[in-house]
Amino acid sequence: TISMAVIDKEGHIAVGTSTNGATYKIPGRVGDGPIAGSSSYADDEVGACGATGDGDIMMRFLPCYQVVESMRLGMEPKLAAQDAIKRIARKFPDFVGAVFAINKNGLHAGACHGWTFQYSVRSPEREDVEVFTVFP
Ligand code: ASP
Repeated sequence: TISMAVIDKEGHIAVGTSTNGATYKIPGRVGDGPIAGSSSYADDEVGACGATGDGDIMMRFLPCYQVVESMRLGMEPKLAAQDAIKRIARKFPDFVGAVFAINKNGLHAGACHGWTFQYSVRSPEREDVEVFTVFP
């Protein structure tokens, strides 16, 4: 699964998620990729979120919508990401998944459950892509 958020020079924010789907998925399964708010969500006024993991569970919580709305209410990306993951883990303690969150100022974070998650960031301030590792 590849999920990517972009903030342009004018502050427009976009996000998208592409996936080959779950392992051994059943024919016809759609998954969480195309569900707005589940695998990705963005709002120019707030920021963006992307997700990966057990889509059949995650889609019931719209975690990316949750993250963006939490940031809208003033949560920092890290807390918003952790909160969205915790909401899922409370009901499904064995689920495996992760989200990244970025606010409109470029502050970013990730949160995960059941695995270690890595995301990378490219910004005008740096020459290289920076890789961040998030532990459950
Ligand atoms: N979320 C994807 C799905 O369930 C899989 C993944 O992110 O690895 O289709």
